[in-house]
Amino acid sequence: MPIRISGLVKVHNEIRNRLQRGLPVAEHHRFRDQVRTIVLAVETICRNEGTTPNDLPGPSRRAYEALKNLDLRVIPEPQTDGLHAQRKIPHIQNVTAIVRDAGTDMWHHLSRYRGEGLRAGSLIKRFESTIDTVDEVCESYDCRPWELAAPTRHAYSWLRFLSEADNLALHLRALWLVQEALPRVGFTPGEWILSPMAMRSLFRMSPKGGRISVRCNEAFVTFGEEFWTPFVLRSRNPRQDGLGDLVGEFANKPQFIETLAALEGPVLPAEESAVGQHHDLNSAFDRVNRKYFDSAQTRPTIQWSLTPSARTFGRFQFSQNRILVASSLDHPDVPSFVVEFVVYHELLHRVHGIKKVNGRSHVHTSAFRGDEREFERFEEAEAFLSRWSRKLA
Ligand SMILES: [Zn+2]
Repeated sequence: MPIRISGLVKVHNEIRNRLQRGLPVAEHHRFRDQVRTIVLAVETICRNEGTTPNDLPGPSRRAYEALKNLDLRVIPEPQTDGLHAQRKIPHIQNVTAIVRDAGTDMWHHLSRYRGEGLRAGSLIKRFESTIDTVDEVCESYDCRPWELAAPTRHAYSWLRFLSEADNLALHLRALWLVQEALPRVGFTPGEWILSPMAMRSLFRMSPKGGRISVRCNEAFVTFGEEFWTPFVLRSRNPRQDGLGDLVGEFANKPQFIETLAALEGPVLPAEESAVGQHHDLNSAFDRVNRKYFDSAQTRPTIQWSLTPSARTFGRFQFSQNRILVASSLDHPDVPSFVVEFVVYHELLHRVHGIKKVNGRSHVHTSAFRGDEREFERFEEAEAFLSRWSRKLA
């Protein structure tokens, strides 16, 4: 007569859930012991009853086998990237759609909004009511704007930026300068469409069905003709004419960086410093961006993290567009290129994103590893970090 071990299935489910959520390193040891104790207990009960786990009823047997075969060598750590955050972050519908519509509306009805204070005022009213909605939802969920999912967060910071009359005037001026230059490349505003927006990269051009849709970072609206005219002219043969060089050159100007800061200010978490005692993370980012990304990456928030761990020296938080670097690397014996390597690795996370396979998240894909090896002193940096982690352990 088969015996039943009550609660085994439930225990297995709990353990599976805990693994999915991830466990802090400090709990790994205890967790392994727990699983082993349960497996042993099942085997002992069966032996005492003169039977084996193989003879357990189906669900119990499967739970036992799953527990016995768990690979306890690798226990995932809790994700801090917001995807598995414990607190509920609201999903606010429509904000991105409202922003997209407002963008196209301004482009196609530019003459309506330019030069007339009243009309621009109606845009600002529209923006403000959406901002209020987001603020209210955030408040009722006790969540801050920088915790929102990236598309909503970007939309929100864009609305905040454009709800200031001076910024809106810059935006409309940029659209106008581009529309003025378009005939010189043989396009009409119906065929070549510009949408400056809050985004992680500097610009993206996608031709589709005879139309060219150009998205660019909102911070470029700070520039006048000196930027927009060559921008349009070089868009005809972007590669040959070095459109990327132009964009990179202007993105490095203090004026751009200031505007970007104003744009992202409302969605940046309370600042901890990027400037350490020995290394400055922002300049590490600048060097990496120039060397490996043609300066095409926008600056994420980069902070020294006070929660250093011996094994992980950096972390990219998708939900906050933030790179954390372990403060154990802010040390005179750590060479700059090692800090740059950590920043580079974390930036690659932003570039590659998260691949979901069978419900599990993969971040260090083979494509990721391939790009990682592009780092000039990759092997040296890796070797240094593993020596450093042994030293800290
Ligand atoms: Zn990584």
